[in-house]
Amino acid sequence: MISLRGGGSCRGCAECVRIGCSPAGARPHVGDNGRVTLYRDEGVVLRTQKLGEADRIVTVLTRRTGRIRAAAKGVRKTKSRFGARLEPFTHVDLQLYERRSLDLITQAETLRPYGERLVVDYPRYTAGTAMLETAEKLTAAEREPALRQFLLLVGGLRTLADGSHDPRLVLDAFLLRSLSVAGWAPALDECSRCGDRGQLRGFSIAGGGAMCARCRQPGTATPAPPTFALMLALLRGEWDYADDSEQRHRAECSGLVAAYLQWHLEHGLRSLRHVERDTGARDGGPDGPGAPGADGRRDDGYEPDGYEPDDPAGPGGTSDRETV
Ligand SMILES: [Zn+2]
Repeated sequence: MISLRGGGSCRGCAECVRIGCSPAGARPHVGDNGRVTLYRDEGVVLRTQKLGEADRIVTVLTRRTGRIRAAAKGVRKTKSRFGARLEPFTHVDLQLYERRSLDLITQAETLRPYGERLVVDYPRYTAGTAMLETAEKLTAAEREPALRQFLLLVGGLRTLADGSHDPRLVLDAFLLRSLSVAGWAPALDECSRCGDRGQLRGFSIAGGGAMCARCRQPGTATPAPPTFALMLALLRGEWDYADDSEQRHRAECSGLVAAYLQWHLEHGLRSLRHVERDTGARDGGPDGPGAPGADGRRDDGYEPDGYEPDDPAGPGGTSDRETV
């Protein structure tokens, strides 16, 4: 952290020169409290958008700060190495200059260029793209630390890039674990309604997962028993079992996971829009099954919420519990 106080003109230090501060200018980058804040964080680039003629807005899921959107200056003017480091899938180490609106990226160093291996393989590329999108949607509030989601994303991209498993299995494992981190893990080895561990017959998207013969409602999906076993193996990281699974069970698993994720993203976020957030206390959304339990989310300091880009009341602290 650099602090410039009083005076109103910096002395052209290295940091100020890099971020374009004019030594003769009148404190162009000093905040109201007279401080300039630089911070470092590592993260995975989720998305980029054009900004003006030559700049980009880069969305990054970071290790400590959570999901952020930051400006990268001049990266579209030339094929700059700086710009190439800020492409989707790249695991980067960043230095940022904190501003009231969008933070400014002042340095970017590549840690792992996962994109290089993914863009040449269409099934891996599409699976990776779905991972990035899901990570963004599940970290609905900016600047809320989401360490477990970050670690899942890095692990998922690494596994996808090394080519050791079917990309569809890697994606489904990532989605199931991400749902679990969000507090929405489906029941897979017991009935989601009565808890019976006997023979499971159905899978209810809205009901929270597997259901026994007694609880199963008409119209719910009836996956094959090996599909339940495959989903459970992916959630637990039992790759020997998953790698030996049959294609038809993989297909059934993918369909159920996608439908389950979609349902929770739509209903979960919609219900949370009605929840007051000013006190920080939640008493649950009004939509019953759509309102997920709060326990899982709070465990890792992450709560899906309305989209508030520059919420001044947002928590600025970080949590570094390495629990995954
Ligand atoms: Zn039951």
